[in-house]
Amino acid sequence: MGKTTVMKQIFTMDVEKDIDAAVACAAQLTKNGIHGEFYICGYLVEKYPEKCKKIAKNHTVGGHGYYHENFAMLPLKEQKRLIKNTVTIFAKHGMKMEGWRFPRLDFTNKSLSLLARMGIYDSSFNRQVWKRWGHFIFLRNWLSNLKRGQFFFPYLIPLELIEKPWDNVDLEDTEFYKKSGRLMMHCWEFKKYEKYLFSQKTKNTKVDVDNHA
Ligand SMILES: [Zn+2]
Repeated sequence: MGKTTVMKQIFTMDVEKDIDAAVACAAQLTKNGIHGEFYICGYLVEKYPEKCKKIAKNHTVGGHGYYHENFAMLPLKEQKRLIKNTVTIFAKHGMKMEGWRFPRLDFTNKSLSLLARMGIYDSSFNRQVWKRWGHFIFLRNWLSNLKRGQFFFPYLIPLELIEKPWDNVDLEDTEFYKKSGRLMMHCWEFKKYEKYLFSQKTKNTKVDVDNHA
């Protein structure tokens, strides 16, 4: 992937509605010594700055659109405006928006250039897909957009991009705290996974926490 840096992550959540689920989840991760990542819609940060600050205290916070827009459908200028606006909202409340996950994972390779230029890492690719496609992942993105009926020229992935691919979930695994590279996809799935999240971290459990940006 050229100069593109690929980082590791442990636990991430997309927060588009239920900010309280995110706060509860963040607190539980902190209790278990796990540094998580929360990709929060800008409008939620605007509406609940104190709750978001609680999350940001011990975890990485990123953006997830302003209002969960479909970025593959928007002109580049509008995409840029939404990302910048979200960065500003985070900053206004003393938080640094370090990363970004495109809502519904809809984006074009040009969208990634916006992030790269702003020094924001991306977390919108699946790790397996990223590995499988290697240097040709820009084609994969072009094809998936084509399948959704969105045609554009297959631009290369920007070399300056910092990518933090997400992994598939093992949350239904009762060994919740024993494996690394998991993802809690959405805040509204919190109820479903709560029992695993709140299960006690077993003694001597080795959790890989090398996931800092
Ligand atoms: Zn989402």
